[in-house]
Amino acid sequence: MTAPPGRRFAKAGPGLVAALRAACGDAYVLTSAEDRRPYGSDETEDLWFDPEVVVRPRTTAEVSAILRLAVEEDVPVTPRAGGTGLSGGALPVRGGIVLSVDRMDSILEIDRENLVAVVEPGVITQTLQEAVEAVGLYYPPDPASRGSCTIGGNVAENAGGPHAAKYGVTKDFVLGLEAVLPGGKVVRPGGKLLKNRTGYSLAQVLVGSEGTLAVVTKVWLRLIPLPRHRRVLLAPFPTLESAAAAIARVYQAGVLPAALEFMERDAVRLAEEHLGASVPGSADGEALLLAEVDGGDAGAVDAEAETVARVFADGGALDVLLPDSPSKQAELWRVRRAIGVAVKAASVYKEEDTVVPRTALPALVRGVKAACAKARVASVCYGHAGDGNIHVNILKRGLDDAAWNERLPGVVEEIFRLTVSLGGMISGEHGIGWSQRRYLPLALSADEIEVMRSLKRAFDPRGILNPDKILPDETGTFPTSQPSCG
Ligand SMILES: Cc1cc2nc3c(=O)[nH]c(=O)nc-3n(C[C@H](O)[C@H](O)[C@H](O)COP(=O)(O)OP(=O)(O)OC[C@H]3O[C@@H](n4cnc5c(N)ncnc54)[C@H](O)[C@@H]3O)c2cc1C
Repeated sequence: MTAPPGRRFAKAGPGLVAALRAACGDAYVLTSAEDRRPYGSDETEDLWFDPEVVVRPRTTAEVSAILRLAVEEDVPVTPRAGGTGLSGGALPVRGGIVLSVDRMDSILEIDRENLVAVVEPGVITQTLQEAVEAVGLYYPPDPASRGSCTIGGNVAENAGGPHAAKYGVTKDFVLGLEAVLPGGKVVRPGGKLLKNRTGYSLAQVLVGSEGTLAVVTKVWLRLIPLPRHRRVLLAPFPTLESAAAAIARVYQAGVLPAALEFMERDAVRLAEEHLGASVPGSADGEALLLAEVDGGDAGAVDAEAETVARVFADGGALDVLLPDSPSKQAELWRVRRAIGVAVKAASVYKEEDTVVPRTALPALVRGVKAACAKARVASVCYGHAGDGNIHVNILKRGLDDAAWNERLPGVVEEIFRLTVSLGGMISGEHGIGWSQRRYLPLALSADEIEVMRSLKRAFDPRGILNPDKILPDETGTFPTSQPSCG
């Protein structure tokens, strides 16, 4: 795609490239079209923008040098980690420099007395989880992409995942950060502290800032003891609404599930086809719930599993599966985690990351399906229902580009208006980035957006860090032109 209109930046000329090579080493400054190409997209739809130069620093000092040079030369910088983002946060929409933290991938410390991990931003999330589990500890935030996303990207997106239902999202585990500001200054808010009320919490301001305020170069993360026992349940429900209605009843019954996932039958079917796997009961009913309970006491965990099974049965479940074997439980999770990839493999799609109070889920699901039917587009819904977070995937399937581009904006707007009317927000965990920024005024007031603009100016007065992300175009109000995603 071509760059959008707006503020003009300088190009990354030979002088800047030479200075980047001097700062980071020749091998880590990529300029050929072939080398740059993979850094022009993430997992958001089929969008691609061409970066002028890609830099892969290894140290905080190198990141600092890049951000100093970028401000001096007035060239935009797009931070990038695993490239699994779903709202286009890592897309270099203005060209310029892509700053990839993939080489900053060391686990620096697992402190078993303070229960803290200190890591660089490029550490793959699953790698950290496995390392801490090996010493009996647990880092719960687990995006379904955990095998390829990174801690830096999780911090920048405030990522969630299935186990946020009980343990919370990334922000609930960030104790401190080291980050480089545009211009090159290094700040280190927080650290190995479980409490800290010293001034504004800069670390928490940076969590979820989507690479628009600073580049994160080190993270202090809270760990907890590993729960030793888990049970997984799967239940097909006759209708989408009956599945959605059972979710709040689990909590009413006094159980705080470790995970509680909603999967429309078609979403499970796509994952089964993609993996060549088969889930019992997936052909029955319109939706399935996948629940997990965990804890340190096997008897208590079994009792909670029985309670959830009873709630599901009372809520009209067609069956309740409660596998004993860890391998069968893992297989259910494998299918759940594959849904995102399977949807992407099946069709061009646009994903909306709606979040509402749990009790509003039946109305949300019903309204989303009605809106998609009215607009004559296919959709599949799934997500972290325990958090009230449903991913609505609108599928292009056989539609031609003209019909897709004509129908999509209206149905997205209708879904978001419905979400907000139910007390919800337009992103629960994937962020606003590039692809959702035009919709921000549907969810936030003009005053709230202005405070956010002031925050951006305070960190990045020259506006060089990840421009055109989160905040809508200053000149336009909703609706502005929709980027083509055909
Ligand atoms: C199949 C699939 C399943 C997914 N499941 C989930 C899920 O369950 N829950 C969930 O929350 N998300 C999920 N995601 C979305 C995505 O994986 C998360 O948003 C993840 O946090 C992105 O991490 P990343 O390392 O890939 O970051 P990237 O995509 O590279 O970047 C994401 C954002 O972070 C910024 N950034 C990256 N590194 C830094 C840094 N060091 N400093 C400052 N800014 C930085 C970028 O500029 C960009 O704005 C899923 C994605 C896929 C493809």
